Order: sequence, then C-alpha cells, then structure tokens
Amino acid sequence: NETVSKNFIEQEIDKDLAEGVYDHVCTRFPPEPNGYLHIGHAKSILLNYGLAQEYNGTFHMRFDDTNPTKEKVEFVESIKEDIQWLGADWKDHLYFASDYFDQMYEYAVKLIKKGKAYVCDLSPEEIREYRGTLTEPGKDSPYRNRSVEENLELFQNMKDGKYKDGEKVLRAKIDMASPNINMRDPIIYRVARMSHHNTGDKWCVYPMYDFAHPLEDAIEGITHSICTLEFEDHRPLYDWVVKECEFVQPPRQIEFSKLYLTNVVTGKRYIKKLVEDGIVDGWDDPRLVSIAALRRRGFTPESIKMFIDMCGVSKSQSSVDYAMLEYCIREDLKMKKPRMMAVLDPIKLVIDNYPEGEVEYLDVANNLENEELGSRKVPFCRELYIEREDFMEEPPKKYFRLFPGNEVRLMHAYFVKCESFVKDEDGNVTEIHCTYDPETKCGSGFTGRKVKGTIHWVPAPYAVKAEVRLYENLVDEEKGVYNKEDGSLNLNPDSLKILKDCYVEPSFGDAKAYDSFQFVRNGYFCIDAKDSAPDALVFNRIVSLKSSFRL
Ligand code: ATP
Ligand code: MG
Ligand code: MG
Repeated sequence: NETVSKNFIEQEIDKDLAEGVYDHVCTRFPPEPNGYLHIGHAKSILLNYGLAQEYNGTFHMRFDDTNPTKEKVEFVESIKEDIQWLGADWKDHLYFASDYFDQMYEYAVKLIKKGKAYVCDLSPEEIREYRGTLTEPGKDSPYRNRSVEENLELFQNMKDGKYKDGEKVLRAKIDMASPNINMRDPIIYRVARMSHHNTGDKWCVYPMYDFAHPLEDAIEGITHSICTLEFEDHRPLYDWVVKECEFVQPPRQIEFSKLYLTNVVTGKRYIKKLVEDGIVDGWDDPRLVSIAALRRRGFTPESIKMFIDMCGVSKSQSSVDYAMLEYCIREDLKMKKPRMMAVLDPIKLVIDNYPEGEVEYLDVANNLENEELGSRKVPFCRELYIEREDFMEEPPKKYFRLFPGNEVRLMHAYFVKCESFVKDEDGNVTEIHCTYDPETKCGSGFTGRKVKGTIHWVPAPYAVKAEVRLYENLVDEEKGVYNKEDGSLNLNPDSLKILKDCYVEPSFGDAKAYDSFQFVRNGYFCIDAKDSAPDALVFNRIVSLKSSFRL
C-alpha cells in the first residue's frame, strides 16, 4: 500500500475518531434534483463515498428536495443513473429530504416552545432592511417578542393556509447584532402555495435550506457533512440548529473548495441556454462536462476517479485544466482498448502488382502493450484506403510518408512504393498507385532495407463506412469563457466537426454503445450512444493521442 498523505478532511475525521466525538463515519451526497450532475458534483460524490469506504462507514444518497419550485422527477432519475455509473453504491440508503417534512415542522414547533423562534409579519423588503449590513448591526423586528402561545398559534395558522405567500415567516431568534449576517434571525419557514413532486399539496409551508439541511443530516445520523466553501459562513447557523433541536450526536460540517475547470462551461444557466438555443445536442452533448455528457463522449468512471484524485481536496480556490482530464482518460484506455485502423479522410491506394481478387488475412495484435487483448484478422487486398494527408505530391523536408518514388510500411502488412497517382480535372489527387514487395511482410523478419514511415490503412472492399465526430473546446480559449461586455459565451465555431465518409476495419462488427477503441494515430473513440446504429456506426473522438499536459 502506498503511503499517501491524508487530506485535511481525513485528518479531521481521524481526530474526531481518536477523541471519541464519533465512533463511526457516515457521509452523504445531497443534490437538489434541479438539473443534471456535472464533473464538480463527481468530486463531491467520490469524496463522500470514498470517505465512507475508507472508514468502513456508511454513504447516504439523499435528494435535497425541500424547495418545490425548481425540482423535477426527471432529474431524480438522471442523478441516480449518474451516481451509479460513477460506482458510488448507496446500498439501501436512499433518502428524500421531503420525507422529513413532518419532523422538520415538529422541530420548528420545538424551537418556538423554547422561545427560540418567532413568527414575523415584516415584508421581505423590511426584513432585508432590518437585517443591517456588514458594517452595521441589524435591528430587532417589532414581532420578535411575541409570546410562545401566540407564535404557536400563528405558526399553526401558517401551516393551515390562513395567510398569503410571503405574508408571514418563521424566524430563528438568534442575534440581530451578530457579525455574521446569517445569524441575524434567519427565516426558517415560509408560506408558499406550491405543489411538491413528492408531497403534492399537503404543505403550504416549506423549510428554508439553512434550517432543513442540518436537520436532514442530523435525522439520518450523518457524522461528517461535507460541503463546499460558500457554506462556511453558514456553519454557525448549522451548529445552532442541531444544538437547539437537541440532537444527541450532532453532525459536523466541513467545507472544501469547489472544482473548477479552465475554459469549460459549467454554469447551469449557460448550459440551459446552449441547450435551448440548439447550440448543443441536449444536456448530454459530448462537448459538455455533465456526467451524462462525459459518459457519452467516452470517459470512464475510472478516468474520472483518477482525475478527482489528482485534483486533491483543499480549501483553496483554483481551477484545473481540462487537459488533465484528457490525460486521465488516455491513461485509463491505453492498456485496455484494442488499437484499430480507421481512416478519417480517405483516399484510395491501389497496389498494382497485387493479384486482383485475392485476399489474405493478416494476424494483428489488438494491443502490443497488452497481450491479454489477443489478436484479430484484418483482410488485406489490392485496393485500400489511406489518410489523404499520408500522401504528398511535393513533400516538404522530413516528410517520410508516401510521395512519388518513396517507400513506406503499411502498418501490419508490407512495404509499398508509390509509382504514380491520378488527379481529377480540378487537380485533386484521387488515387495513388503503388507496388508492394512480398518479401517485406510484417513479422517475416525482413531486414534487407529500411523505411522511415509507417501508415495505416483499411481494405477498401471490406471496410465499413462510419461517421466520426471530432470535438474541440466549446468556448474560445483565447477569449475566455465569457464575453466581458455582455456576459455571453465566447463560442468556438469549430467545436464540432462531422466527418461522414470515414472507413473503419471490418472488425467492429458487434460494437455497441459506449464501446471505445484506439484508432491508431488518431486518438481514442467511442460509439455514440444516441446516434450510432449497427449498420451506421457513429464515433465520438474522446481525445487525441497527443497531449499538451505533463505530469
Ligand atoms: P450547481 O449550482 O452547479 O448545480 P449546487 O451546489 O447548486 O451546484 P447541489 O445539487 O446543491 O448543486 O450540489 C450537491 C452537492 O454537490 C453539494 O454538496 C455541492 O456542494 C456539491 N458541488 C456542487 N458543485 C460542486 C463543485 N463544482 N465541486 C465540488 N462539489 C460541488
Ligand atoms: Mg445543483
Ligand atoms: Mg445547491
């Protein structure tokens, strides 16, 4: 086992266990079902799940569905799918915060009875005004000293639907002079006539996030409630809620910094607009970084885990380069995937001295670095396709591929020498003619002479036509993600290139959605789950082989 130094959260947990604050670890991932999960959420999921595993603890999956305005059942399903795909197994610990509405209401009543909460009639604007500023203390609401009896009755009336939305709220009675504005009598319940996806029209009062979240954690017996940095200032309120509600073993909130990626669109608002404007093909468009998009593009759970591990956990804000994610998927696929030949921009090559109608089946190793992947048979014959860029009529210096008079190796096959070529009336090369030397067959041990270039090919009569989609960053890296003037996105017009006339080897026969391959020299590719069909394959390029990223 490697000795990896522990991150600051692990150190805190170790301390809590050593001091007997807790004798076990229970974590949770609490998404709001109001959108699709993205790479940032993956960090939180893998962190919480990883900690539970590391400490032999329990991991809870909880939908934080206390705000009925934005939530949808559709999102619940996509979130579950994404988390399962990432491998975070919640076993039988699946929860919905809305299942605790009755208990939350009772805790609010308990606070009223303790004189720790009151019903307030101030309007939202007045509440804001009374709250004060960073430099000025707030002032007490005129309703702050209502009696317990009056508060109980008014809160009951709130629940019974006797007031309009926003007419009355329940506030925690803490300290209007606190330097922390979150502690200046925060609202904990509001009146809102909204249908909830789980509880329907049962409730017309709903708890606020800062009240609901600590209760959810405490009710479930969460020990370490891990959240992102923007909640640091809310921690005193979190602690106040669990203390005043008298939980025997209150959970502890620990904050870490969010994951940000450079030159990548993560804002939900922007993604929504890209989808609505038809600029991307839905929330799972392979150029996005939602989990579903990464999956469709061909990323693996292992590569995402490696990436998240490399990012580390800390309290300092920084953003990570997308190239690091690309590095991780290359590393993951390198040994696992067969290396196939695919020609993305085909031009015909004819071997004039190869007998017409003849075919031989070459035995080709699937991955030279991993014997376990076995081998396959690739037909070789007189007419092939090669990449257009592998031939030049007038080559520059150091061009070692095909040009008139030059000899190269056809990968896994023979040496061929370019004898002539054919042009159409516009001057485009349409066909290259070669001769081959039967002595030079790959694996024959031929040492008579050497060539400097090796090019890949597919056998023309046997090759399978396929569509290949090449991606670039959705935003213009030079200009930055957002336009400084109007906040719009600086889109890269070349983010998607569709190549319709590619040819792949015949051995993709039973390839199915999400299967991935290396195409030699061109990168890693994945069968598109939405648009590919067995007789009309569509591949997404996951990543090219070259990397600008260095460890
Ligand atoms: P977004 O606005 O991007 O949807 P969110 O915080 O509103 O983010 P939630 O559904 O509330 O989304 O998030 C569930 C959990 O995921 C929270 O604990 C949140 O802190 C965490 N999370 C969200 N974004 C990131 C991120 N970029 N990096 C790490 N954790 C994140
Ligand atoms: Mg969210
Ligand atoms: Mg949120």
